[in-house]
Amino acid sequence: MTQHAKHQIVIVGGGAGGISAAASLLKRDKSLDIAIIEPAETHYYQPGWTLVGGGVFDQAKTRRSMSSLIPKGVKWINSAVSGFDPDNNEVSLADGEHVAYEYLVVSPGLKLCWDKVEGLEQTLGKNGVTSNYRFDLAPYTWKLVQELKSGTALFTQPPMPIKCAGAPQKAMYLSCSHWLKHGHLKDIHVGFHNAGGVLFGVQEYVPALMEYIEKYDAKLCLNQNLIAIDGEQKTATFKVTDADENAREETREFDMIHVCPPQASLDFVANSPLADQAGWVEVDQETLQHKRYPNIWGLGDACSAPNAKTAAAVRQQAPVVAANLIATLNKQDQTAYYTGYGSCPLTVERGKIVLAEFGYGGALEPSFPKWLLDGTKATRRAWFLKETLLPPIYFDAMLKGREWLAKPKTR
Ligand code: FAD
Repeated sequence: MTQHAKHQIVIVGGGAGGISAAASLLKRDKSLDIAIIEPAETHYYQPGWTLVGGGVFDQAKTRRSMSSLIPKGVKWINSAVSGFDPDNNEVSLADGEHVAYEYLVVSPGLKLCWDKVEGLEQTLGKNGVTSNYRFDLAPYTWKLVQELKSGTALFTQPPMPIKCAGAPQKAMYLSCSHWLKHGHLKDIHVGFHNAGGVLFGVQEYVPALMEYIEKYDAKLCLNQNLIAIDGEQKTATFKVTDADENAREETREFDMIHVCPPQASLDFVANSPLADQAGWVEVDQETLQHKRYPNIWGLGDACSAPNAKTAAAVRQQAPVVAANLIATLNKQDQTAYYTGYGSCPLTVERGKIVLAEFGYGGALEPSFPKWLLDGTKATRRAWFLKETLLPPIYFDAMLKGREWLAKPKTR
């Protein structure tokens, strides 16, 4: 077997998790030999796509070259991982090479399953079918919103887990905010079709969100899972499940539809020895160390920890992974632990946000005292945070190992 390289620490994925973990490791020990394996030339700030779809951000603001973000001193292996061989401490690459490691950090994100909705892939980006879940389509969302003056607009949410569980409804609120401002909302029927049974998983935030559902007169359709789209006919078909678990199909016409695709673990992760039964990298939810391979850690959307899959979660996970990996390397106990923190800034109108912040089991974990920012209410301060502060916090703090609002808790 030819060996491409060997590194002390290999990181799979140069997204939010991979780069933050590398930066947090180097912050603790500059002498570490780290390689990131990442096939893409471009890194995306995905939390910005909601604001692109809402006409707030320019698309370019959410994209940077990978080379500009990989921390200095880290080797970038510009290839895709195709498999894991944890018994031999190696990963295989799509080009047939192998990379050996002493410690491995896994953070390749997840898979968007557009193909799970019949007819969707063929019509995405045309016929009024859009999604903020793709960089190239978020501007199309804003175009459709501006053009729609009357008719029916549908917004869909697939079964959990998905990244940023609030993003499907954020797209709806920002669209409605625009239509209301321009006097069109009274002529537009808005429907939110959610495969799940609740508007938002953490009850404390639901009243503030319901106020906006009512304000925008949006029809809340729970337990309705999008299964097919006919772009030319402009119809969407849902599997509707009632309280007795009886299912039927219902088809609705639309003028525009914003689709959040079903999501799953990437195949090369799901089919590997690292996966749990659901296909995610099987980590301890507090230490983020792999449950069966002690020299491996996982973070981000790919890992099995039952937190909300968000970049905000990664912000707190990366320092925990870095601290625990270095402790292990130094033959010390792991003391850092992750509380399950995740955050979802729900853009309920242009200029106001309900800032959901919570940990495992839905326990509220606000970053600010209530008098400064009450996350259960729609506030301008939370909007300022999202629009103005969070992009630099992401690019200039989190991806650089400056652990603002992310100091790991220790035992
Ligand atoms: P990613 O950032 O997706 O990075 C994964 C990386 O792995 C990519 O660079 C990819 O190229 C690479 N990779 C893939 N396959 C391989 C392979 N085979 N080998 C090597 N590398 C590979 N989060 C928030 O905190 N707040 C928000 O408001 C928010 N809004 C969102 C809105 C939208 C529309 C979307 C799509 C996401 C949003 N998120 C939000 C979620 C957030 O972007 C993700 O949770 C976060 O990016 C996860 O980081 P990650 O490193 O796990 O995955």
